[in-house]
Amino acid sequence: MRRRDRSQSFDYDVVIVGAGMVGAALALQLSAQTSLTICLLERASMLPDSAAPNQRVVALGQQAHKVLSELEVFQLLGESHAFPYQSMYVWDAASHGELQFAADDVNEPQLGFMVDALRCNYLLQQQCIADPNIECRFDTRLNAIENTAQVARLDMDQGHMRARLVVAADGANSWVRRQARIFTNQLDYQQSGIVTRIVSEKPHQACAWQRFLETGPVAFLPLAENQCSIVWSVDSSELTSLMQLSDEAFADRLASSIEYRLGALQLLDPRQAFKLRSQRADRYFEQRVVLIGDAAHSIHPLAGQGVNLGLHDVVCLSRVLSSVAKEDIATAATLERYQHRRKPANEQVDRAMSMLRTAYQPGPAIWHTLRGTGMNLISRSPLMRRLLVRQALGV
Ligand SMILES: Cc1cc2nc3c(=O)[nH]c(=O)nc-3n(C[C@H](O)[C@H](O)[C@H](O)COP(=O)(O)OP(=O)(O)OC[C@H]3O[C@@H](n4cnc5c(N)ncnc54)[C@H](O)[C@@H]3O)c2cc1C
Repeated sequence: MRRRDRSQSFDYDVVIVGAGMVGAALALQLSAQTSLTICLLERASMLPDSAAPNQRVVALGQQAHKVLSELEVFQLLGESHAFPYQSMYVWDAASHGELQFAADDVNEPQLGFMVDALRCNYLLQQQCIADPNIECRFDTRLNAIENTAQVARLDMDQGHMRARLVVAADGANSWVRRQARIFTNQLDYQQSGIVTRIVSEKPHQACAWQRFLETGPVAFLPLAENQCSIVWSVDSSELTSLMQLSDEAFADRLASSIEYRLGALQLLDPRQAFKLRSQRADRYFEQRVVLIGDAAHSIHPLAGQGVNLGLHDVVCLSRVLSSVAKEDIATAATLERYQHRRKPANEQVDRAMSMLRTAYQPGPAIWHTLRGTGMNLISRSPLMRRLLVRQALGV
């Protein structure tokens, strides 16, 4: 059904709430591809310019790399903030199974990049600020959203604004999603991810190392200067004791978790812990509110796919919005096209991650043997390796 909004006056065609990587990328993409008026609204202050690498690292695949390059952000990162990795080595603590992929398997120069998330987010925000088509409002607190067929009205401490379309890019705990009464299905993994940065005694060889332990996977993501970003998934019951260890004792536990393959380790940052859960919105739009990124879906970081999926949402939504007249950007027909393309795709990745996680839960010895044999068979088959890498990278 087509909404008649010609009688309304709007302050902006699109208001994007949340200037994280996904929201800021959408603002830039819409500015490049449409003549829509855009406001990017962020609760926090603008990110500071810090050149020092930090522990929030995301693994970006080829598609995400392409999007960020087209937005002229990737080029500004440099090797200290975007490190190309060539291979991946996965092995199982409970069996003899191991799996190895390399960029050569798919004739690519690299499998992807380990990117400093804060630096990348900072650069995206700076591009938005410099873009004359985007009005950026930081330090802005939303109090209410009235979301009707006629208009979306956003009330702030500083007044109100009227928008044709509101994009919720405000992360996993999306306030906008709750205002729109879109519900989520949640799966609490009863686990936390510990992240930090280390430097290792032995070279990482531009390889992403991941070992499945009984308590969950531990991943070493290679960075410049022989550093790695760590994501260690642990049971909630184990978290407190690991967080309370001294830096030296924790570094030794970490080194032993991957059988000292990288030698002795030294911590470079304080440890941070995140609760791990999977969350899916039951629909991606309601009237004039549409969800993207973690506001629509958050998945286990096991696959490092969160930002990658969010950037796919960005590409899809901007394509859909650029193909219709501005009066139609918030119709059910338009938003249904976006939902139809992205919701099943995001949920498929989420299901695959949950299945992978279940497959690596402790089980009977026979299951561990089968699992190890399966990994080794895949690793020995060039065809299977290629299929798996292509699937993972979307190339
Ligand atoms: C341990 C861990 C490791 C991960 N590793 C990877 C990885 O290797 N690769 C990968 O692709 N992904 C990874 N992820 C996932 C990734 O971090 C997220 O998918 C990504 O940050 C989501 O981006 P986003 O912009 O949608 O949301 P966010 O990054 O959460 O940004 C939301 C923005 O909205 C703002 N905001 C919130 N509420 C409001 C409001 N009411 N009004 C205005 N603004 C608001 C926030 O301040 C923030 O700026 C990992 C996640 C975890 C927890």
